Amino acid sequence: MTLIEVDAIIVGGGIVGSSAALTLARAGQQVALLERDFCGSHSSGVNYGGVRRQGRSLAQLPLSMRAHAIWGQLRAWIGIDGEYARSGHLKLARSEPDFDALKAYAHRTQAFDLRLQLLEHRELRQRFPWVGDIAVGASYCPEDGHANPRLVSPAFAQAARHSGAHVHEQCKVLQVDHDGQRFSVHTSNGQCFKAPWLLNCAGAWSAQLAEHFGEPVPLTAAHPAMLVTEPLPLFMTASTGVEGGGIYARQVARGNCVLGGGRGFALTSTTARPGQAAVLDILRNATELYPALAGAQAIRTWSGTEGYLPDDEPVLGPSLRQPGLLHGFGFAGAGFQIGPAAGEALAQCILLGAPAISLAAFSINRFQPNHHHKENLS
Ligand SMILES: Cc1cc2nc3c(=O)[nH]c(=O)nc-3n(C[C@H](O)[C@H](O)[C@H](O)COP(=O)(O)OP(=O)(O)OC[C@H]3O[C@@H](n4cnc5c(N)ncnc54)[C@H](O)[C@@H]3O)c2cc1C
Repeated sequence: MTLIEVDAIIVGGGIVGSSAALTLARAGQQVALLERDFCGSHSSGVNYGGVRRQGRSLAQLPLSMRAHAIWGQLRAWIGIDGEYARSGHLKLARSEPDFDALKAYAHRTQAFDLRLQLLEHRELRQRFPWVGDIAVGASYCPEDGHANPRLVSPAFAQAARHSGAHVHEQCKVLQVDHDGQRFSVHTSNGQCFKAPWLLNCAGAWSAQLAEHFGEPVPLTAAHPAMLVTEPLPLFMTASTGVEGGGIYARQVARGNCVLGGGRGFALTSTTARPGQAAVLDILRNATELYPALAGAQAIRTWSGTEGYLPDDEPVLGPSLRQPGLLHGFGFAGAGFQIGPAAGEALAQCILLGAPAISLAAFSINRFQPNHHHKENLS
């Protein structure tokens, strides 16, 4: 058995673990990034590619704003542009109550620099004539956008490798122990890693490690359904979503439209399929909202495996039971945009002793049986 001693071991080579590895390696730390399959082969590489702040909870916005700054310098971080485009994000309302909800969100988030523009029906039709008449209004976030996850997420791991991180693919973590000072991590390819820090960035598969260290979490897996059309003449000038959910769509530079909506199903614990019902739902919604898609051929459908906690917020930050253990998982279908900042924040817990942006709202403590909300204590 090979014994490898490092400063930090990261379980999971998705965008969160890879970004943590990148920040740590750049700061001169010895890092081992351990990935069961291939870096970016799960949620981080198969997601829709939405890079949006609009619609996030207030708790996530500080981290999401930091992520926005990282995305703005993507090439400097990972060496490629990842087809990242600040196309704007247009969130459509199909009813007046939905439009009111968009207005309320714009009001609630005024303290953040989202620069949301509320568009009444007439202005929406003037500026975005390709949107179906069924939309009564919209909220437009001009600097949000989209990117190609298949390029971006593996590139974070590759950049970490170039900065000195030891990236081990097809290397499943089988067993983890702590001897009072250091973790020892045994992997499927017969290696043993030792380090004082361990980062649990295993996506939808993170609950086991948390539970092993006495922190059970109600993490569940779900499978957003996706499809892509044949290349079409360019018409969709913004990435779009809908208030209340249901469907989201973007068009890439080659002309293909990528659409998502609804849920698929798990084929195995690591593979998922979109399912016929979800795909038909996407197609039905699509032609109402984006009439130019009528008659377009869908050329591929897919899904992925994503981790969700009951409040749709991630668990991000230090374990409260095991010194040296940091958690970063449960991004509820929205971790691609925020992932680079989430990984950086975890790295800062090691490098600076605390993250630059508070992670208090994402503490694992909120799921522990003895946890009481402040209001219950008074
Ligand atoms: C279909 C779909 C669409 C989405 N659309 C968007 C979107 O448009 N915008 C957005 O912001 N977010 C979106 N998301 C969410 C986003 O993709 C995820 O939140 C984000 O990628 C999570 O990153 P991660 O690094 O935490 O997890 P993952 O990418 O899942 O990475 C975790 C890694 O851990 C590895 N692992 C697990 N167990 C072990 C082990 N024992 N040993 C070693 N390695 C292990 C896994 O193999 C995996 O590669 C979407 C997700 C899906 C599935």
